[in-house]
Amino acid sequence: MPGLWADRRRGSMKSKQVSLRDIPSVDLIMNHLAKEVVLQEFERPLLVEKVRGLVDEVRERLKNQQTAEVSLEYFVSELKERLAAMGRGSLCKVVNGTGVVLHTNLGRAPLGSRAVQRVYEVMAGYSNLEYQLSTGERGSRYSHVVDKLCALTGAEDAIVVNNNAAAVLLVLSALARGGEVIVSRGQLVEIGGSFRVPDVLKESGARLVEVGTTNKTHVRDYAGALTENTAAILKVHTSNYRVVGFTSQADTKELAALAQQHKLPLIEDLGSGTLRRLPTGIWQEPTVRECLAEGVDVVTFSGDKLLGAGQAGVIAGKRKYLEKLKGHPLLRAFRIDKLSLAALEGTLLDYLTGDAAKDIPVHWMLERPLVELKKTAEQLAVRLQTLTKGGWCVEVVPLVSQAGGGTLPAVAFDSFGLAITVKGKSAAELEKSFRQQPVPVIVRIQAEQVLLDVRCLLPEDVHHIEAACKGIAEGVQE
Ligand SMILES: *Cc1c(COP(=O)(O)O)cnc(C)c1O
Repeated sequence: MPGLWADRRRGSMKSKQVSLRDIPSVDLIMNHLAKEVVLQEFERPLLVEKVRGLVDEVRERLKNQQTAEVSLEYFVSELKERLAAMGRGSLCKVVNGTGVVLHTNLGRAPLGSRAVQRVYEVMAGYSNLEYQLSTGERGSRYSHVVDKLCALTGAEDAIVVNNNAAAVLLVLSALARGGEVIVSRGQLVEIGGSFRVPDVLKESGARLVEVGTTNKTHVRDYAGALTENTAAILKVHTSNYRVVGFTSQADTKELAALAQQHKLPLIEDLGSGTLRRLPTGIWQEPTVRECLAEGVDVVTFSGDKLLGAGQAGVIAGKRKYLEKLKGHPLLRAFRIDKLSLAALEGTLLDYLTGDAAKDIPVHWMLERPLVELKKTAEQLAVRLQTLTKGGWCVEVVPLVSQAGGGTLPAVAFDSFGLAITVKGKSAAELEKSFRQQPVPVIVRIQAEQVLLDVRCLLPEDVHHIEAACKGIAEGVQE
């Protein structure tokens, strides 16, 4: 933002002489903006609103004794910049150089090609979303994925909603409202983004009954808390932290037997919920199928974590419990969108008939062999060295990536990447420059170096990184 509060850094009091009367009038600014060709596609009322907004901002600053620029040139250039930014749009592709595979701020799981193809087809025209092609009658949107989810998890039935938070709230509202839900003190999780198990339970209308301690909870603790008001037993996957040392949680099979004996549902919020194991054994999480086989009645998990699809929440388990969810008003409120549904079905097909380890980007990234990562980093380093001239130092370095997205919290994934420094630029400045390229490259900073982990790079990203480095070397920024 050129010229914004220009003398802030100098800490000068010069602007004290600037008064509210020096602010140009809205009309005057409008007259100058009218001459700008790039702004001619914007409607006049919008321009007026933006001008008034900026005038008010500057007035506020002056009233609060803060420094501010008041020249006509400043107003014109600042408004041009803001409006141009709006015209460009905001949501865009970035290159993930952080090494965090399921980066929530960067959109979690990238979709595989089959999912993208399905989304494109469904998005571009009409679809049989709720229409049965066999009979010509009204159908159910869930029908497209239920058989596939059941085949992949061994569940009797499944429902999908727009994310896992919604799935948990729906399950608890439908199965436990007005009753008590028993949860281990070691599993009262906060996921972030204000999803906290005690709060979700409260919202569902159920009452939380905590049992056990932070590090240990036994089946007898649950048994001792059963009353005639108990509506369910809830297990929550400690997705984003580990309690280590003298710890244990109740055995799922025994807990399932206890629940069954009292005709109560055993519910498990799996968080990420994986449909397959990594062959290397770094995957300590049980699969959805294993959880259900151990006797959990209803599981919930995300579509865009380890499953590798778009935002969605899956509820899978016993038919008699899922039937109770189907008429619930929250199911309508949490209804999954057709694009997410298309992404989910495409991804499920990769598990069923494709090679999930290669076709699902999240799995491909998590399983990339170290030698391959090293090779990718070395090749990228060579390309960047030939591109950039003096002052650039690009080095191949070993790094540690994370799964992210509240999954596999204690697992370190050895990786490789580049450490980049540019003479005359601090690491913070360089990181910012990468972030402000036409295709932004998101990197980390460590020990005054910019680090670019190659684990999450998609094939086309190499070109974007080259373009970014060229842009930075030539001093071009968006
Ligand atoms: C991530 C997570 C959620 C929330 O899932 P979203 O799909 O992001 O809504 C809920 N519970 C657990 C245990 C999680 O890890």
